[in-house]
Amino acid sequence: MTRVKLEGVSKYYGNVVAVEDVNIEIQHGEFFAILGPSGCGKTTTLRIIAGFETPDKGRVYFDNEDITFVKPYKRNTSMVFQNYALWPHMTVFENVAYGLKLRKKELGLTDEDIRKMVKEALELVKLSGMENRYPLQLSGGQQQRVALARALVIKPRVLLLDEPLSNLDAKLRIEMREELKRLQRSLNLTTIYVTHDQVEAMSLSDRMAVMNKGKVIQVGSPQELYFRPRSLFIADFLGRSSIYPGELVAQGKDYVEVRLEDADIVVRGVSPFEKLPSKVSVVIRPEVIRLGSSGSSGDTVVKGVVDFAMFLGEKIEARVKIGKLPLLAYLPNTVEVGAGSEIELVLPWKNIIVLPSE
Ligand code: ATP
Repeated sequence: MTRVKLEGVSKYYGNVVAVEDVNIEIQHGEFFAILGPSGCGKTTTLRIIAGFETPDKGRVYFDNEDITFVKPYKRNTSMVFQNYALWPHMTVFENVAYGLKLRKKELGLTDEDIRKMVKEALELVKLSGMENRYPLQLSGGQQQRVALARALVIKPRVLLLDEPLSNLDAKLRIEMREELKRLQRSLNLTTIYVTHDQVEAMSLSDRMAVMNKGKVIQVGSPQELYFRPRSLFIADFLGRSSIYPGELVAQGKDYVEVRLEDADIVVRGVSPFEKLPSKVSVVIRPEVIRLGSSGSSGDTVVKGVVDFAMFLGEKIEARVKIGKLPLLAYLPNTVEVGAGSEIELVLPWKNIIVLPSE
């Protein structure tokens, strides 16, 4: 088990800022996700940890050892790629054994040791009996497991995964997600997982970093980031929300009140900031909204007209006009509403987030 620390890490390609002043500390045995839109610097960060790239500034540590300039093969990390990167002319056994054979002398391994270790790795990923197949004789999910077995067989200090599930179909992706999580737990392996898929990041990770334009915007557990975003970027990027600009009218010890622009409504909410500027934004997640004309003390009740409503099976997704403001709301699937329906909605103040406008 290894703790990974990045301290002020930056990487530039000519004029392009790929990664800028990244500071993260990943704990022993932690499942850590790096999430962000395309081009935000996730892969570059992972490649710096693997040693495939050298940072222009900053330091990388494994435990207390500075490994910033240590060659990749001396770091004892394993990386799994989106495209699996298996050798097509080698069997499953040969693919998995490859890394061990390279280090046979260094590790003092016999052929029998290698055979046993490959067998164990294939058992871990549920591919026993497939040793003699070639990659092209396997499904996408099975190929991904071979890549995983190849990564695990060397018993890495840190497992690095770069969008490993994105080539799989939706159903298989969910299955593999569960398996990956179970495997990581049982091996207690420090794991860093790069993805642009927020559901993957939230469902797999103990903690995650959200990046944008080369910078880490916020680090925390999925719940912290989802329920207590500290910026509009995170509030907008994770999950869905309606975001309205407004004017701060009051800030108490545990609440804030905001007059919304374009609607003469004062909404009460909570904020992670003790002191807010006068220009703020209100973040309302569709799932916190309730249908009804009365809420608990402090809740805001608004009248609206349904613009459109879609039955999604487990819920109804409605776009409701509150004055001029469009509000996205999830309603119970038994409610009968359609375009033009007049409804009342409760905005529970403890779930309404107020952030500085950007
Ligand atoms: P994606 O999800 O699309 O893979 P990412 O978040 O992993 O994106 P990176 O691959 O880390 O992003 O790239 C970050 C930035 O650095 C991008 O603007 C990219 O174009 C640039 N970049 C990455 N590698 C190189 C390179 N070898 N040469 C020049 N620019 C690069």
